[in-house]
Amino acid sequence: MERLSKVFQPITAIGKNHQRTHKDFTSKSHRLMIELGIIQQALPGCFHILPMGLRALNKIVNIVDEEMQRIGGQKTCFPTLVKSNLWERSGRAVEMGPELITLNDRHDQKYILGPTHEETAANLISTLGTTSYKKFPLLLYQITSKFRDELKPRFGLIRGREFLMKDMYSFDVDQENALKTYNTICQSYDRVFQRIGVDFVKVLGDSGAMGGNLSHEYHYPAAIGDDKILLCHQCNHATNTELTGKHKCSKCGESENISIESAIEVGHTFLLGDKYSKPLKSVYLNENGKPEDLQMGSYGIGVSRILGAVLECLSSEEELRWPDSIAPYNVVIITPKKGSKEDQLIGNLGENLYRNLESFMPNLKNDIILDDRTEWTIGRRLLDCKRTGIRYIIVLNKNSCETPPRYELNDIVKNVQLNLHESDIVSYI
Ligand code: ATP
Ligand code: MG
Ligand code: MG
Ligand code: MG
Repeated sequence: MERLSKVFQPITAIGKNHQRTHKDFTSKSHRLMIELGIIQQALPGCFHILPMGLRALNKIVNIVDEEMQRIGGQKTCFPTLVKSNLWERSGRAVEMGPELITLNDRHDQKYILGPTHEETAANLISTLGTTSYKKFPLLLYQITSKFRDELKPRFGLIRGREFLMKDMYSFDVDQENALKTYNTICQSYDRVFQRIGVDFVKVLGDSGAMGGNLSHEYHYPAAIGDDKILLCHQCNHATNTELTGKHKCSKCGESENISIESAIEVGHTFLLGDKYSKPLKSVYLNENGKPEDLQMGSYGIGVSRILGAVLECLSSEEELRWPDSIAPYNVVIITPKKGSKEDQLIGNLGENLYRNLESFMPNLKNDIILDDRTEWTIGRRLLDCKRTGIRYIIVLNKNSCETPPRYELNDIVKNVQLNLHESDIVSYI
């Protein structure tokens, strides 16, 4: 049984006043996540993810794992240390230079802390020598910390210097197959973002320093977003404005019936061609036994950025709001204050309700928590749970002493309060 009294969630301040005095918070989600004990800053752009935050992060990881594996992605884990010379061979040591975090070992070997792993993936395949065409397509992915010396780390998890990314690398024998794989992976991205359940926009993207032929980005529209996306209401085309320059739809030329919105990039897919496989010599053996360059794709999802971005999109200035899919908990049961009349009459009704809800609603397994911080009033705990954004808050009060007991159910998304019997709670949730 999960108990709030055992959870390390250092709640530090009550909204507004704190916000006014604290200039370090660069966005609403950044401030709320720290105030409500979801994360703590360790140094600029680097955060401790606390237990509540990690539960949510792991739910994103699960969704991503399921969708990557559904299309045949195989989970791997590449080393964080990457030899600098791989990046010299691809030409990116210069292109991405200022963003790279570099270090030397005791033998004066130069390394970078991986900001992304196209070179590593290409080099892995090339060190295997020549693999038969029969082994492709090959889809390898990992979910690991990435490091970028961002010019302006800000908005909490949204632009960190150390962050969690899912990066997948695809290898195909020719361009036609690489495009097929690319489209399959884009579909799996659509499913990831649909399952998370926050409105997103897929746009034609800028290949930037990654290079390649085709790219798409997934964005959450939000005022603080560092990107600007152009939506054409004439032909429904959407692009990153990095691609258009002029304020004009790059597909149909429309310049009136368009809108430009700020947005947070949360995913990026690239069809790379042989940009990495050629310099790093990732080849396969064709049907005639001849070596040929592999065609690559690379596909990123900002796993920790999503956590900050969905909270930025859904929360109010005072209270966190999560999509149900990734909320740390969706149901909390608040038991009476220690020593109160209700406390004496009710006994362990809270625990019983917890077990019953879990058994009647298996989909809520691991999603319910008991707020047994009974030294505090119900009002104080209700406020904490609301600000933390736990969707259904069930309070045991004097009605719970009746037979059969009734419970106060607060649905903080619909903003309603109901007094219900146990079976009605099950059908409501
Ligand atoms: P941005 O344009 O925001 O700087 P990017 O285009 O440099 O991002 P990519 O190289 O495409 O990022 O990396 C893939 C994904 O990793 C991005 O879509 C984003 O979700 C995530 N990401 C990139 N940089 C950061 C960062 N500094 N902090 C958190 N997540 C990041
Ligand atoms: Mg960047
Ligand atoms: Mg970008
Ligand atoms: Mg990008």
